[in-house]
Amino acid sequence: MNFTDILEGQKTFFNSQKTKSLSFRRIHLEKLREVVLHNENLLYEAIDKDFGKSRFETYAVELSFILKDIDYYLKNLKSLTKPKRVSTNLANQLGSSKIYAEPLGNTLVIGAWNYPYQLSLSPLVAAMAAGNTCILKPSEIAENTMKAMAKIINENFPKDYLFVAEGGVEETTEILKLKFDKIFFTGSPKVGKIIYEAAAKHLTPVTLELGGKSPVVVTSSANFDVAAKRIVWGKFLNAGQTCVAPDYVLIDEKVKDSFLDSLKMYIQKFKYEAGSEQYTQIINDRNFERLLKLIDQEKVFYGGNSDASKRFIEPTIMQNVTWEDAVMQEEIFGPILPVLTFKNFNEALIQINKHEKPLSAYLFTGKSEEKKNFISKISFGGGCINDVAMHLSNEALPFGGVGNSGIGNYHGKFGFEAFSHQKGILDRATWGEPDLKYPPYSEKKLKWIKKLL
Ligand code: NAD
Repeated sequence: MNFTDILEGQKTFFNSQKTKSLSFRRIHLEKLREVVLHNENLLYEAIDKDFGKSRFETYAVELSFILKDIDYYLKNLKSLTKPKRVSTNLANQLGSSKIYAEPLGNTLVIGAWNYPYQLSLSPLVAAMAAGNTCILKPSEIAENTMKAMAKIINENFPKDYLFVAEGGVEETTEILKLKFDKIFFTGSPKVGKIIYEAAAKHLTPVTLELGGKSPVVVTSSANFDVAAKRIVWGKFLNAGQTCVAPDYVLIDEKVKDSFLDSLKMYIQKFKYEAGSEQYTQIINDRNFERLLKLIDQEKVFYGGNSDASKRFIEPTIMQNVTWEDAVMQEEIFGPILPVLTFKNFNEALIQINKHEKPLSAYLFTGKSEEKKNFISKISFGGGCINDVAMHLSNEALPFGGVGNSGIGNYHGKFGFEAFSHQKGILDRATWGEPDLKYPPYSEKKLKWIKKLL
C-alpha cells in the first residue's frame, strides 16, 4: 500500500473544502453509525478470535462508546462549530472578536489493541466531527479487529476521506515519515516517545494517550464492600488489559486482611473462569509469558494459576508486596493485583508522587479531608473517588494523561477540540479609530497609550 498516495489524495480532498460543511460531517457520522450497526456481528466475531472478548463486553465497553460519541457529535455539532464571541479590549475598539474552530486537516490516528474498536474509532469519530480527513492505523496485535475495521471503513468510505491502514511497526514507521496536521496516538509511553519524535520533525501537534501504573488507595474510612466490588470489576475487566485499570492497591495496614477476603469473595462471585463470558484471554503468548514472570508465587494470596493453551491467567492477588518487587517495576496490564500497605495516608501519597504520573488514580474513603488531599497533592490524568475507571465513561470529563501518561485529552467536546485549531479573529470597523498608534510618536501620544494599554 502506498501511504504517500493515500495522504496526497486526502490532502487534495481536504483542500476541496468538502469536509468542512456541517451537512458533510453529519451525513458521514450517520453513515458510520449505520456501518457499525450493520456489521455488529462481524465486529463481535473478530474480537472473539483475537482474545475471546464476549458480545456483552464488546458492546458495553466498545461499540456503545462509539455510538454514544456519534450521537453526541450529531447533537452538539452546531454549538461546537459555532464561532464563539469573546470580549474585545479597549485598544481594538471598534471591533468584535470571535474564536473559530478550524479543522486541523489531514489527521492520523494510531490505536492500541486492548479496546481495539473504541480506541481506534472514537478518535476517528472526533476527527470526523471536527471536519478532518483521517488515516487510521489500528494495532496489528489484535489482527482480526484490525482487518474488520479496514473492511468496514475502506468498503464504505472514499479513501480520500477515511482510510484504515493495516500493518505493524514497519508500516507505521513509513506512515510516520509523512507530514500530517495531527497525530492522535494511544499506546505505551515507550512507543509514545517514538511518535512524538516523528511528529516533531514536521512540527505536527500530537495527542498521546498513554498508560502507567494507576494506584488505588483504600483508607480505613472506606466502604470496604463497595471498594472491593468495584476494584475487582475494574481490575479484572478485559483480564486487566485496561489502561485505566487499578494497577495496584495501597491500603491502610490496619484493614488489609479483611479487605483481601472481600476481594477474594468478589472474584469468586463474578465467576472469572477460563472461557467464561466475563473473562478475557491474554492477547498473545509474549504478554502471557511477561505476566507470569511478574507473579511471585510466595506472595500469592489468591489465584496464581494459568493455562498457556488458553492464554488464561487466573485473577491473582499478591500480598506483602514491596516497591522493589518485579510486579511494581512496570505497568502490569494483566490480571495481577499487588496489594501494598501504608501506615498513614500522607505517606501513601508521598509514595505515589515518587513515581511517574499515572494515567488514573482512585481513592476509596469516607472522609472529605482525604478526598481534598488526594486531588490536590498527587498529579495524575484523571480518576474517581469511591469508584474505578468510570470517569472515562462521562463524556463531560476530559480523558487523558499527564507527564509520562500522556499529552492532551479527548471525549465529548475535548475530542472535538483535540482535532481543531482555535482560530482567533478580530474584525475591525474601518472608522472611529484615533491616530494614537501611528507614527510620528509624541509625548502626548505616549501618555494616552499608557492609559489605553
Ligand atoms: P503499543 O505502544 O505497543 O502499541 C500501540 C500502537 O503503536 C500500535 O498500533 C502499534 O502498531 C504501534 N507501534 C508499536 N511499536 C511501534 C514502533 N516502534 N513504531 C511505530 N509504531 C509502533 O501499546 P499496546 O500494547 O497496543 O497498548 C498497551 C499500552 O497502551 C499500555 O501502556 C496502556 O496503558 C496504553 N493504553 C492507553 C490508553 C489510553 O487511553 N490512555 C488506552 C489503551 C492502552
